[in-house]
Amino acid sequence: MKETDQEIFAEDRENYLPVFNRYRIVLDHGDGAYVWDINGRKYLDFLGGIAVNVLGHHYGPLVHAVSEQAGKLIHCSNLYYTQPQADAAAQLVRLSGLGKAFFGNSGAEANEGAIKIARKYAHQIDPDKSQIITAWDSFHGRTIATLTATGQPHYHEGVGPLPAGFDYVHYNDAAELAAMMSDKTAAVMLETIQGEGGVYTPDPGYLQQVRALCDKYHALLIFDEIQAGIGRSGKFFAYEKYGGKPDIVTLAKGLAGGVPIGAFLTTDEVARAFRPGDHGTTFGGNPLACAAANVVLNTVPKPEFLQHVETVGAYFKGKLEALKDKYPSVLVDVRGTGLILGAELSNSEHGRDIVNACLDKGAIINCTAGKVLRFIPPLIVTKEQVDEVADILDTVLAEFA
Ligand SMILES: *Cc1c(COP(=O)(O)O)cnc(C)c1O
Repeated sequence: MKETDQEIFAEDRENYLPVFNRYRIVLDHGDGAYVWDINGRKYLDFLGGIAVNVLGHHYGPLVHAVSEQAGKLIHCSNLYYTQPQADAAAQLVRLSGLGKAFFGNSGAEANEGAIKIARKYAHQIDPDKSQIITAWDSFHGRTIATLTATGQPHYHEGVGPLPAGFDYVHYNDAAELAAMMSDKTAAVMLETIQGEGGVYTPDPGYLQQVRALCDKYHALLIFDEIQAGIGRSGKFFAYEKYGGKPDIVTLAKGLAGGVPIGAFLTTDEVARAFRPGDHGTTFGGNPLACAAANVVLNTVPKPEFLQHVETVGAYFKGKLEALKDKYPSVLVDVRGTGLILGAELSNSEHGRDIVNACLDKGAIINCTAGKVLRFIPPLIVTKEQVDEVADILDTVLAEFA
């Protein structure tokens, strides 16, 4: 017999490690920008699996590619070549203009690899050149090294000792970064657009200033594009929008449209710091994940696709700004670009209630950093769907004004 949602909540509570504050719906299937729960209720999904389902749910070519690949070869280890992996690497190298790609299974793994190769590269110059500088309010993952890189002290509590050599600066403050850097700096690692920390975009010129400082101290510049990359900003890589060319880029979330994958890309020069045996992965970049990534990589970089993100994103941002003008006591700021948008609440106690009220009305949204409503929908959303979410927000925000 089919279980009810109450039975599933109880089963989960009994067995699943309770690290997520979950919303009380049980999702069953999706199509485009919509998902349905097990009771047949429909929701407009403006979270997109946390910036993952870039092509929406049940996207035909992705379903087809994954099914076809599953019927041929799901996994074979990285001891052998596969065409899906060779194609995915070639496409990422072509799109970035960098030299080499490596695949893992998640964002955290991509960043682990980036930190590791940056340290290894710097070590060849000076064994004490190991400092990694990241930003306050950043988010880089949940493994021990990437949570150390994450400039949010509450994530560091109780799990030490943490790896040494990480320092933090305020995002968008190039003077503070200049004061922190030296010949001992191995790398500066920044999200091109800060996502989890509250949707902060770089000020004009900031990333170029960071690039110049990295050149001055022969440090590597790592852009974490795990959330902002894969077309979300309206450019394939968000740094193309803001300038400042990286030595290493990390990707994950949207890269395979929902199949787990992560990647770091780097220059041929930096890539030579790793020799056979220095790094590896069992699952990373297996043919199933890469077959899915190839659908994303053949779709999202198309000019008309990126233009759609830009156009719908600007339309949505205008709607959010109008809501801010209508409810100035509730919304204090609207930020972001493309389809990574944030609306900051005046009262951090209302975040979860607003998200729940939207859910009741059939829209999935998110609140991050305690008080920033974050919108990272599938990149295929339409203006009509933006109107639908904006209308729901209008009704909900009125209750909190
Ligand atoms: C989500 C995220 C990560 C971590 O990715 P996981 O796949 O959860 O390990 C790292 N950096 C950024 C910017 C992210 O948004």
